[in-house]
Amino acid sequence: MSAKRNCIDIQAVEEQHTCGTYTKQPLVIVRGEGAILYAEDGDEYLDCSSGHGVANLGHAHPKVAAAIAKQASTLLTLFESFPNDQRAELMLKLTALMPGMDRVFFCNSGTESVEASFKFARISTGRTGFVAAMRGFHGRTMGALSATWNKAYREPFLPLVPDFSHVPYNNLESLDKAVSDKTAAVILEVIQGEGGVFPAAEEYLKEVQRICKERGALLIIDEVQTGFCRTGKMFACQHFGITPDLLCVAKSLGGGIPIGAVLIGPAVQNLVPGLHGSTFGGNPLSCAAANAALEVMEEEGLAKQAAEKGAYLMEKLRAIQSPLIREVRGMGLMVGIELKQKVTPYVKALQENHIIALNAGLTVIRLLPPLVISYKQLDQLAAAINEVLTSEISGE
Ligand SMILES: *Cc1c(COP(=O)(O)O)cnc(C)c1O
Repeated sequence: MSAKRNCIDIQAVEEQHTCGTYTKQPLVIVRGEGAILYAEDGDEYLDCSSGHGVANLGHAHPKVAAAIAKQASTLLTLFESFPNDQRAELMLKLTALMPGMDRVFFCNSGTESVEASFKFARISTGRTGFVAAMRGFHGRTMGALSATWNKAYREPFLPLVPDFSHVPYNNLESLDKAVSDKTAAVILEVIQGEGGVFPAAEEYLKEVQRICKERGALLIIDEVQTGFCRTGKMFACQHFGITPDLLCVAKSLGGGIPIGAVLIGPAVQNLVPGLHGSTFGGNPLSCAAANAALEVMEEEGLAKQAAEKGAYLMEKLRAIQSPLIREVRGMGLMVGIELKQKVTPYVKALQENHIIALNAGLTVIRLLPPLVISYKQLDQLAAAINEVLTSEISGE
């Protein structure tokens, strides 16, 4: 492949025309296959970001690609007022995954699924209060941002939606104090992703659910990052035996195609025609991609693969002898390596070693590889991390 595609300098064009809200990496990616991303010069990179947890099935999965191609020449767009075969099939598949949650709202992203859950919680309860967690991340639109904790994301946009409060995660006493008869809902992640890969404590979510029920508040679980096999089960809340009132999903649902959804339980009331909607929500193309993706998850046993590969990877990472490491934690293939210092130079060094990793907060290296990553690639990943965390790195 030529360095300059169609005679343009891709990197320079993006630098010139970006809106400015992204840090651009010095790496042009033009193709992907499985856990590998290919740069324009043909160089291979092991993708341990999955586009922030989207590519659970790996890049360019042939079954998803075929479903998209077929649906593209059948029917791309259809407003949700008109029933459609692909959408109906996806409704059946999704509701079968969470027994007791029989209704679905479709949208196009994670933040939209969170927005919808907030509107539904307010309408259902007639209340306006929300309780979220410190270090939580729920998206960037104004409602979801009101639940997001990171001040760098929130403060430039104040004032946000009123009546949001934040409590320390995994602390029942604080939550107990914060939930009142004015609380519409509590929103939590099962594992805080952006916040640093912090899993919920064993009894925490169950107790949160009990407190919500007791006070007439709804429980919203945000599985936008943890959903669809990432943590070793279809949904991470299934590790804890809970069924929330509203379950937000997106990222990997469509095998890479944008789609979001809210699964809705029986306690959510008063959802009537005209109350909420989305032009693209539930379009046949996204639904066909999601149907294929869910079939792949089943056929390839991706939940089991994530559980086994995650355990393998974490054992290797825990064996690394580096004074920089504070803790290795995670569930399935959602793994965080907390360092005693800022991770930016190490994430950069990994990229120089052809491994694309993420940070979570300032001090955690976050690994979200495609669940189809091979054991050989996991060995390569662990070796690269060992190397960057045990050798001198400049630019600290
Ligand atoms: C990524 C993410 C979101 C936002 O999803 P977008 O599709 O980027 O809007 C919301 N919640 C969690 C937990 C996420 O990880």
